Amino acid sequence: MQIKQLPADFKEALPVLEKIEQAGFEAYFVGGSVRDHILGLPIHDVDIATSAYPEEIKKIFNRTIDTGIQHGTVTVLMNESSYEITTFRTESGYQDYRRPDKVTFVRSLEDDLKRRDFTINALAVDRNGNVIDKFDGLKDLDRKVIKAVGKAEERFHEDALRMMRAVRFQAQLDFTIEEQTAQAIADNAPLLEKIAVERIREEFVKMMLSQSWQIGLSEFIKLNLSEYCPDFGDQKFELAELLEVEKQTFIDEDEAWAALGYVLELNHPEFNKLLRDWKVSNKTREASLNTLNMLHLFESQDFDLWNIYKLGVDNFERTIDLSKMFQIEFDYDELRQKVDHISIKSSHDLAITGKDICEILGIKPGPIIGKSMSQIERGVVEGNVYNNFDELSHYLLSNQ
Ligand code: ATP
Ligand code: MG
Repeated sequence: MQIKQLPADFKEALPVLEKIEQAGFEAYFVGGSVRDHILGLPIHDVDIATSAYPEEIKKIFNRTIDTGIQHGTVTVLMNESSYEITTFRTESGYQDYRRPDKVTFVRSLEDDLKRRDFTINALAVDRNGNVIDKFDGLKDLDRKVIKAVGKAEERFHEDALRMMRAVRFQAQLDFTIEEQTAQAIADNAPLLEKIAVERIREEFVKMMLSQSWQIGLSEFIKLNLSEYCPDFGDQKFELAELLEVEKQTFIDEDEAWAALGYVLELNHPEFNKLLRDWKVSNKTREASLNTLNMLHLFESQDFDLWNIYKLGVDNFERTIDLSKMFQIEFDYDELRQKVDHISIKSSHDLAITGKDICEILGIKPGPIIGKSMSQIERGVVEGNVYNNFDELSHYLLSNQ
């Protein structure tokens, strides 16, 4: 197959390939960008693979950065862009089912393609648009199949993260996993326990934020992967409840975690533990916890503007979205109008300070300041007083 019209991102990078070839080496576009272009999807980061060793690449180009030189990756800066150029390599010495501890630079493209995870990710394109397809990746793209390069079992033993990548790509591309590859995942799922949780999380979140996340999640459960992820142990049935709901896509990671917390029926400390075990960022942990709390309030129908404000107005849209997903019914529009009228995000936005309060009340700093401040804050949130200095002073005095 020949790609007649190279996409703009590839065209722009052609001078890089040409320079490498002029120096007597081979260079190709590889990996995700080739796959996505053939599928007609937008491409991000163009990866280039070459027979030149890193030191040789550094001699060819004036401006380079040693991005991951021990793994063979050098970043080349050319015109206004930067390109990651990785030397063809093979990998060996996979200990503990994790990434290899030894990479060997090689001169053969085929050897490099052989170490890649799935056939659809093992395609290369030369500067004339010729597709090099040693493992029937084109056929698998056409029949929408994720299939390991070589023996699936061995490939998952080398790097167990590939099992998570399989369900992630399935969700992103709406593909199916080829039978033997799927069987090898089901058989080797326990190996996932050897993988750093951060790497699992990265794939899991990419899966949950994909268009077809329910397809990925369904396979993640069916192929036993969920059993070996933090706090999902014996929760197949509960997780599967997410497959029943009608949902397009999640707004963000925070919403996806809150949805998981909801179906797993976790209370605050349990959900906090799950988020810590998955090592999500503090920001995501806080937003997810508050979103789930807000969702529980909506469900109980027992809440007021102050509760919503305290849990963060920023979490409101996410919670509305989840309420619809889980069919928690109430008048969203009326509530949204009220929430839209909350004029502050935190007490820092108040038009009065602690010092002002001392002066107005003629008192020294002390606990009463904090109390007065929250009283004013609540007054503003509930729309009982405008957030300007004069009105707030008046409100303060009349509520003593
Ligand atoms: P994305 O669109 O998420 O960037 P991608 O296919 O480009 O998808 P990357 O993680 O960027 O994925 O990896 C680039 C390429 O490197 C892959 O297409 C694949 O060929 C190879 N690769 C990445 N991770 C692995 C792995 N764990 N095992 C084998 N090959 C891998
Ligand atoms: Mg990529």
